[in-house]
Amino acid sequence: MRRRSVLVLEHMEKIANKVRVSGGGRCNFTNLNASSDNYVSCNPSFCKSALARFTPYDFIDMIEKHGIKYYEKEAGQLFCKGSSGEIISLFQKECSQAGVEIQRGCRIDSIKKKDRFIIATNYGVMESQSLVVAAGGLSYPKLGATEKGYGIARQFGLNVTPLRPALVPLVFKKKDLDHFGGLSGVSLKAAVSCGKVSFDGNILFTHRGLSGPAILQLSLYWERGMPITVNLMPEMDVYALFMAKRQSRMKIENLLAGYLPASFAKKWCGLCIQSKPVNRYSEKEFREIACKLQNWQIIPHGTEGYEKAEVTLGGIDTDELSSRTMEAKKAPGLYFVGEVVDVTGQLGGFNLQWAWSSGYAAGEYA
Ligand SMILES: Cc1cc2nc3c(=O)[nH]c(=O)nc-3n(C[C@H](O)[C@H](O)[C@H](O)COP(=O)(O)OP(=O)(O)OC[C@H]3O[C@@H](n4cnc5c(N)ncnc54)[C@H](O)[C@@H]3O)c2cc1C
Repeated sequence: MRRRSVLVLEHMEKIANKVRVSGGGRCNFTNLNASSDNYVSCNPSFCKSALARFTPYDFIDMIEKHGIKYYEKEAGQLFCKGSSGEIISLFQKECSQAGVEIQRGCRIDSIKKKDRFIIATNYGVMESQSLVVAAGGLSYPKLGATEKGYGIARQFGLNVTPLRPALVPLVFKKKDLDHFGGLSGVSLKAAVSCGKVSFDGNILFTHRGLSGPAILQLSLYWERGMPITVNLMPEMDVYALFMAKRQSRMKIENLLAGYLPASFAKKWCGLCIQSKPVNRYSEKEFREIACKLQNWQIIPHGTEGYEKAEVTLGGIDTDELSSRTMEAKKAPGLYFVGEVVDVTGQLGGFNLQWAWSSGYAAGEYA
């Protein structure tokens, strides 16, 4: 314990709104496999130091100390068995034991730095030796997101890398929407890729485009204009399947409906190939159709934006911060932690782990 006197300024009436809604209300609070490979940043190594000094197991120790029951959903993703409210209670208890005060409904009007930071708020003027900015990103404005963190960085002359919504559903272009908009609610297991990255997992058709875990992951790497490639039958040798069924008089869309949702198979076959009985195709056509099924290309129009993005990609340039302390090199005493920093995690508990680890790193020095 460093016995610092700590005051948290929160402009909303409720604290930790994003933790409350996280993981569908069960808070995917960490991922056992968290490493720098799971994060996107202009400096991919920046997060290593903080992640190594407060690991998923350190957070699990806290969870267990507070008797919170949890489970592993898949591949290291840990969720509360009860609700995300338990994590918020954990923080409230820890804060109260450490004498941390939380000022809710507190609007920050201005920040100045003389010997100390002077913060003008609707609760009056406050002074502090250190200022830790944990104001989050721009996503989900209705939960309290503001640009304040980036504004403070710019005020102190720090660079902010370009920002964009990520872990966000993608939106179809008009033509694709006309074709596939009617499939809203249909999901299938696929492998999606763009550029050099690819993810296996479910994709979900929405009334505006594509979502589901694999698409959300991909959105972290997708930039406007880039095509995405969808392997609709990733675990199959599709050509071998066609060859095995080559005597069948069944229409190809009905054969594919055994492996894909029937409504999608029908739509896709109607649009992408000439649908006829399986025994009427040549071997060459089988090869072409197999290739199309495993390389379906779409160029999305855009994303659903910050309203529906789980995170903001980009943030305070890591070159401006010490990776050990999170302190701004140009502004001693000023620290940035969590999502406001240019460190963005993949889906699966990595973003909260970054918030915990970077917060801990700053807490050791601020
Ligand atoms: C719907 C949804 C689900 C998610 N699920 C998960 C999940 O399961 N696992 C996971 O790892 N990540 C998840 N995330 C991402 C994760 O919640 C964030 O990355 C994480 O909360 C970032 O922590 P932070 O402390 O940096 O910022 P935040 O949690 O956003 O906290 C920032 C705080 O600053 C306050 N604030 C902002 N501006 C001001 C201002 N001007 N004055 C005073 N206070 C201000 C905000 O009200 C907020 O309380 C999810 C995000 C969303 C939107």
